[in-house]
Amino acid sequence: MRTGLVSKEGAALVVIDIQEKLGADIIMTLDECIAPGNSFNAAEEAVKRTFQWAEKCRRKHEGSKKLIFGIVQGGMFPVLRYKSASEITSLDFNGYAIGGLSLGEPKQMTWSIVDETISYLPETKPRYLMGMGSPEDIVEGVSKGIDLFDSALPTRVARNGGLFTIYGRKNIRNASYSMQSDPIDPECDCYTCRNFTVAYLHHLFKSEELLAFRLASIHNVRFIINTDITFFSSGHFEQDASGTNNTFANMYNQGMNTQLTILGEKGVNGFLFRNSFKSYSNLYLASL
Ligand SMILES: [Zn+2]
Repeated sequence: MRTGLVSKEGAALVVIDIQEKLGADIIMTLDECIAPGNSFNAAEEAVKRTFQWAEKCRRKHEGSKKLIFGIVQGGMFPVLRYKSASEITSLDFNGYAIGGLSLGEPKQMTWSIVDETISYLPETKPRYLMGMGSPEDIVEGVSKGIDLFDSALPTRVARNGGLFTIYGRKNIRNASYSMQSDPIDPECDCYTCRNFTVAYLHHLFKSEELLAFRLASIHNVRFIINTDITFFSSGHFEQDASGTNNTFANMYNQGMNTQLTILGEKGVNGFLFRNSFKSYSNLYLASL
């Protein structure tokens, strides 16, 4: 059956080609992600299709020097998560992603499925939680053994005036910020905090000046980066060994972030940062 220009069967192969051409360092297989309210049968069908596509992608990728990750689906059904994880890990990918979460289901359910799924994934390979990237999600995810995240949330929240701080999220549009002459976070070393006051940012948002979006995004991305620096200063994580950190720094300096990725525990250089991240996370979560 054909849908648009590419058959469903061919789509799995096309996504590999596209990612190769884009120069992706980590190629993701094609998967079917279903909404949380879908039936068991629909979720089972998606697991089946996801495995078929993963097999095709794996074969197509043979001989490539790029890494390739498989994606586990299964909706909100633990038995299907087990089935999908068993099938996907049988294909021996370089890492494994947990997909199909944070789509509107209750947070408690999200983490319950993460707990269920991660127990079936090998600890010797990176484990990637797709589409989640708030400070508190990263903290929670790393504490559970997640190594990799991706999310547009920090910059999307910023564009709506939500600014991350160690004391929780500030809504810069609130009138209470109209006269504050401090930076968003006096401890933050970002361009925004070093050059602008809370009152000025408040003014930019109220005036709908486009600069507001950029300044707020710079701060939120820096806030996320600083969580990594907490690892580095703990002595468990060699900054020089981290290509990831350099990528963050480059992205940040260019102010071009629309999406960011964090490598946490064992993703780069070992298995040791969980405890230091946990200390930080307790501080952050306690402040919410
Ligand atoms: Zn800042």
